[in-house]
Amino acid sequence: MQTKSNSSLQTLTQEDAKGFLQKVENDITKLSTPAAHAAWAYATHINYDTAKVNTYFTEQISVLYAKYAVEAAKFNDVQVDADTRRQLDLLKSNPEIAFPADPAKAERLATIGSDMMGIYGSGEYCRDNDTCLSLVQMSAEMATSRNPDLLLEYWEGWRQVSVPMRDMYAEMVSLANEGAEQLGFDNTSELWRAKYDMPADDFPKELDRIWGQVKPFYESLQCHVRAELSEYYGKDYDGNDIVPLDKPIPAHLLGNMWAQSWGNIYDIVKPEQEMNVPNVTSALQNQAYDEIQMTKQAEAFFSSLGFEPLPDTFWERSMFQKPEGRDVQCHASAWNLDDVDDLRIKMCIQITGEEFNVIHHELGHNYYQRAYNQLPMLYRGSANSGFHEAIGDTIALSITPTYLQQIGLIDEIPDASNDIGMLLKVALDKIAFLPWGLMVDQWRWKVMSGEVTPEQYNELWWELREKYQGVAAPIARGNDAFDPGAKYHVPANVSYTRYFLAHILQFQFHKALCDIAQSEEALHRCSIYGSEAAGSALNNMLEMGKSQPWQEAMTTLTGQPDMDASTIADYFAPLKTWLDEQNAERQCGW
Ligand SMILES: [Zn+2]
Repeated sequence: MQTKSNSSLQTLTQEDAKGFLQKVENDITKLSTPAAHAAWAYATHINYDTAKVNTYFTEQISVLYAKYAVEAAKFNDVQVDADTRRQLDLLKSNPEIAFPADPAKAERLATIGSDMMGIYGSGEYCRDNDTCLSLVQMSAEMATSRNPDLLLEYWEGWRQVSVPMRDMYAEMVSLANEGAEQLGFDNTSELWRAKYDMPADDFPKELDRIWGQVKPFYESLQCHVRAELSEYYGKDYDGNDIVPLDKPIPAHLLGNMWAQSWGNIYDIVKPEQEMNVPNVTSALQNQAYDEIQMTKQAEAFFSSLGFEPLPDTFWERSMFQKPEGRDVQCHASAWNLDDVDDLRIKMCIQITGEEFNVIHHELGHNYYQRAYNQLPMLYRGSANSGFHEAIGDTIALSITPTYLQQIGLIDEIPDASNDIGMLLKVALDKIAFLPWGLMVDQWRWKVMSGEVTPEQYNELWWELREKYQGVAAPIARGNDAFDPGAKYHVPANVSYTRYFLAHILQFQFHKALCDIAQSEEALHRCSIYGSEAAGSALNNMLEMGKSQPWQEAMTTLTGQPDMDASTIADYFAPLKTWLDEQNAERQCGW
């Protein structure tokens, strides 16, 4: 015998599902633009009022998504075409944080999110009553200072900011899990792993496979860097090695607040023989580039591939510099406020080669956003989370010496004998990043599935950092510390696996585009600058958004459906040989 609700289910048709999706599209469109303006206003002007408005809209839109995600389940047993089914599925797995239906809980969840961002965005470390330092200031000093005491002071100082976040984070996890359960997931961990066009439990295995492809190369790099740092820093006041040769590397000495990329300590670990590696920072500074010129130069690269210029409103509305007299979220990001062409970046641009790359990264987001702006709303996004992060980086891989000479930033192109230096620099940024890019969500997946208590959060964090990165906390960390919160993406609830994937994908995309551009150079010397054929192939993938499984988007550009780290071995082949020579007499591992 059928129940009443079952018989009403059976009356639903494909037309009903399409009508439902149309209503979702209309309602989301109506709310997401004002919500984006509220988020922009908050991020570029953090104060009591913008926080209130942003929290309100975050909650409204999250609750709307949650409501429709639950409603989408009505169509689980209705026969619909593949396209309709995909949109219904995406609706369910779309949110990063699923809001509970209970309005009081939803409001609380939105408030916690906004409060954590407020703590992060306005966070600073005060050396004394008069001298307070922002993250930007400390990051800049950590890039260049070689004073281990000062590095440790900043490292520790910034991590005081996140201490109050721990209990907020734990409460956020439990509320978000309630929301995830309402969507039919066990918890937020499963929701996050369910976004990859494969069963949620298969995805971590896929990551293990890819990490396994590059792990030996990472271990060679870690081994070399540890040995050079050990020699450079010598002994501490007690006569112990500051960098012991059989332990993980202390996290404050790698030129970066999170030890996530190590390019800033190139001078310590570089080859003994003189290498002519273009110094983009001094080239930019010598030619008096400002923030706008750097951004224009990045835009020009995309234009050379055949992409339309950025709209005038991009230049009028973006935030390129840290403004005086107000708190802003300096963390670089790219926006499309109306989901059509209100494209903007938000950055506190420093005049450095590193930031020049970041600008390309952010513009990659903007060009992707514009390429898929004709699709249904639920398809306007990244094929998988890694694609969006990979596009601008792919372009930045073409910032080769040849390209720098073409745009007048350097005079002469160093010959191939200097490639080890250049490759080492790239590896310090991109290969050093890989285990970090992997471990942040390994931590969150465990936290969000409730495998650890808040008292164990920090311990688990360092366990994973040691395991994957071979990097350790330089001083004992108390259980009240919440070091994950000292990284933007944790309080901001931005998943991090995207960056691990992006660091794999960008080399695959670069190789495919170099082939299309018919480059005859070695992969690390290839620049696709000026190749409209490459630009058009890239655009073919970008304009698919997430209308199809990412494997299809991958095939569109690379001719095959898998993520594959073997391109990295091609790209860095000469460096791998060199590292093996350096490490021949060393005991690697930790
Ligand atoms: Zn990004």
